[in-house]
Amino acid sequence: MSQPAFRTTIARMSESIEALTKAAKQLLEIEQLLGGQFTPAAVNCLPEIQLPQSQARSTLNLAPGDKSPALGDMNENEVKTCTLCGLSKTRTQTVFGEGDPNARLVFVGEGPGQNEDETGRPFCGRAGDLLTKMIGAMGLTREQVFICNVVKCRPPHNRNPMSEEVEACWPYLMRQLQIISPKVIVTMGNPATQKLLQTKKGITGLRGKWQKLPELADSLGGIPVMPTFHPAYLLRNYTPQVRSDVWEDLKQVMSALGLKLPADK
Ligand code: URA
Ligand code: SF4
Repeated sequence: MSQPAFRTTIARMSESIEALTKAAKQLLEIEQLLGGQFTPAAVNCLPEIQLPQSQARSTLNLAPGDKSPALGDMNENEVKTCTLCGLSKTRTQTVFGEGDPNARLVFVGEGPGQNEDETGRPFCGRAGDLLTKMIGAMGLTREQVFICNVVKCRPPHNRNPMSEEVEACWPYLMRQLQIISPKVIVTMGNPATQKLLQTKKGITGLRGKWQKLPELADSLGGIPVMPTFHPAYLLRNYTPQVRSDVWEDLKQVMSALGLKLPADK
């Protein structure tokens, strides 16, 4: 190898080492956060409390056993083959969402990223790992909640979904929510929060305060919504303030669902 080529190789290697060290440091911090403030709570220890907006209802009123087939049909027969917007041209596969069809809690993110596009599963990259830990800290598992996105196909280069893509995909999300009929929805980040709440207000002003779903489609209106920061934002802004903001938001959701808070233990 020539000397300049050797130097370039060494320079690249030290860049990689730097990036790896940074990632390891961040992971360590997450572990500390999750081992500390995000201590797992016990499940279903308290009676359900009255939600601030408890008129949540579903027009479909499906029996618990009918929800899984209803979601499965929609995914197999409509979403997997959907070409309603341009994202169908660039996706590897659709990402419908996953979890308990009878979940009391639904998390809504923005759209699939690269890992999700490759695996077909929502929130399975680094942001997903953090979301899994956040759910764990609430005393729940991913299997006990439902996790989905506003758009079911990956926007190229992880750009924000465009409004026509969100519009095209919207009926799927509405139908998912109608079928599941959750008690509480957590929207993560601006795109999900602004679309679901039909507002232009930013997440920083909205988070931490109970909102309610407007009358979007067939009486979904009234379902309590807790907007919080997107886990990808949390990863990028891993400050004690943002971490504690997210945890405060999740604790409010736990109270609403009657989950025992760590302090109550
Ligand atoms: N970010 C999202 O908004 N959704 C995912 O599924 C993964 C990352
Ligand atoms: Fe269809 Fe939604 Fe995918 Fe667009 S993003 S192609 S509307 S499933």
